[in-house]
Amino acid sequence: MTARIIDGKALSARLRAEFRQRVGRLVDQGVIPGLAVIRVGDDPASRIYVGNKVKACEECGVASFQQALAADASEADVLAGIRQFNTDPAIHGILVQLPLPGHIDVRRVLEAISVNKDVDGFHLYNVGGLVVGNTIFPPCTPYGVQLLLETTGTDVAGKNVVVVGASNIVGKPMALMLLQKEATVTICHAKTQNLAQHTILADILIVAAGKPGLIVPQMVKEGAIVIDVGINRLPDGRIVGDVDFAGVREKASWITPVPGGVGPMTVTMLIENTLRSAERAHHLRKNNDYQDWETPSIKAG
Ligand code: NAD
Repeated sequence: MTARIIDGKALSARLRAEFRQRVGRLVDQGVIPGLAVIRVGDDPASRIYVGNKVKACEECGVASFQQALAADASEADVLAGIRQFNTDPAIHGILVQLPLPGHIDVRRVLEAISVNKDVDGFHLYNVGGLVVGNTIFPPCTPYGVQLLLETTGTDVAGKNVVVVGASNIVGKPMALMLLQKEATVTICHAKTQNLAQHTILADILIVAAGKPGLIVPQMVKEGAIVIDVGINRLPDGRIVGDVDFAGVREKASWITPVPGGVGPMTVTMLIENTLRSAERAHHLRKNNDYQDWETPSIKAG
């Protein structure tokens, strides 16, 4: 069997075309959706990621606001920026580009973002929402994977899903989202013994470990759907995922390429969350329910 390709670039382009129409409808009602991005320091990868997000905003008609702070900016500086964006009605989404320099407490920063503008979905309130199946802003990468899975026409209910990687931004939320869809979910991580024993049972295998070549054909069930979240730069400059694409493609029924699979979807889902937030704010304003919209975030300790 040679797997069919799940084309994240094409799906992303289709979604962005829809977003432009949604933005048009908002603009007609006097609302320009706005995303604020806070970056601390000069990490080259972060600069590229932020650049991609700003470009996607431009492509879809979303206004972007960047706050670039020096690497030695204090936690108080970052929190002040967040507070300003929290109360600015032109801003519907706030994201702080991670990683932050070591002297800044990441949790304190994420918890300062208004839960109503937490378009990355990393605030504890949104994480809790995910746990109980009442999500406001689903984290972008797993959200993108969920839509990619939908394009295969597969109902995940009752399927064996194995997620390799248990990070807070990919593996754990991914597992929770698919559990909510009634899949039987196994989460594997660096301490998992005999990884292949788990992966071989997967009808749907999602890999987000950041280890090139981790998943080889012998670890994959015939006909499985394989989603490769990994992004790794090899010494020769090539970008590859965590899955031996050429080998596994001969066993799987569907597979995502790297690049061109999950990658483009992550930024696209950030725009989706920002639009959802702008639509929600507008709806609440129209119903004079703005109070609710401005509910302050949980106080960070
Ligand atoms: P992370 O380093 O925070 O977490 C990696 C996880 O993989 C951990 O739970 C770890 O225990 C597990 N792991 C590591 N080695 C393993 C092994 N040998 N066997 C089983 N599990 C193992 O990484 P992350 O932020 O979750 O990102 C994971 C990968 O996904 C990276 O390559 C990252 O670049 C990529 N990523 C891609 C996107 C995208 O848009 N496509 C978004 C976020 C992350």
